[in-house]
Amino acid sequence: MKLEEANKLVPYFESLNRVYSEIPNGTCMGCANCCTESVNLTNVEFGNVLINGLMQLSEVDYKATVSRIFRFYLSELGTTNYCPFLGDDKRCLIYNARPLPCRLFGTPDRATFDANIKQIKIQNLKYARVLAVKEGVKLDLNRVNRTIPFCESYQPEATLDGEAIQMLYDRLINLDGKAYFEGASSEFAINGDLVGWTIDYLLSTLGLEGINREWFYDIKVKLSK
Ligand code: SF4
Ligand code: SF4
Repeated sequence: MKLEEANKLVPYFESLNRVYSEIPNGTCMGCANCCTESVNLTNVEFGNVLINGLMQLSEVDYKATVSRIFRFYLSELGTTNYCPFLGDDKRCLIYNARPLPCRLFGTPDRATFDANIKQIKIQNLKYARVLAVKEGVKLDLNRVNRTIPFCESYQPEATLDGEAIQMLYDRLINLDGKAYFEGASSEFAINGDLVGWTIDYLLSTLGLEGINREWFYDIKVKLSK
């Protein structure tokens, strides 16, 4: 997504924030243990991250974040790193624009959290198999099976069950569909990856014709062999 495309999504941010506002607040210890993956998000959410997150950073934070984003992406198959949007003081640099999964952390009840983790492990295993067959990359099983642990410290004002969480996601997916059918976005690309999409954006701003994310993907795969 380019910045001009993100600007077309601004009229949808009010609805986006309405969904976010329905998530129960809570008391967080700020350990950042939940900020060790690249989260998934919708198109409208990514527009919000660009305009109200990345574009609002100071020059120093912007440069440091961009550098962390490329490092995170290139090393993620073998190493667990903090999310590149996490500042040195363990605070989220795009806190006001952070996507839904970040806002939900600590809020699901234990059964919902465990069911979600089970699904993530199955998906990670499938991805590892694809990498092994297609690219000849054998990932460390500890890395494949690693998931963010259940947070015992966060104290939500209320927990959410699977159905309530699914409804929040559904509303964001509907919002993405609305933006698409109203011509505000050129693709209906739900479930994107924050780091990957940010790399796409950065490449589009650098004028690096001929270099795309596939080029970085090839390097990432080579580095992990
Ligand atoms: S939600 Fe939990 S794991 Fe995440 S920063 Fe807060 S206390 Fe740490
Ligand atoms: S975007 Fe912010 S809250 Fe979400 S994982 Fe990254 S640092 Fe943590």
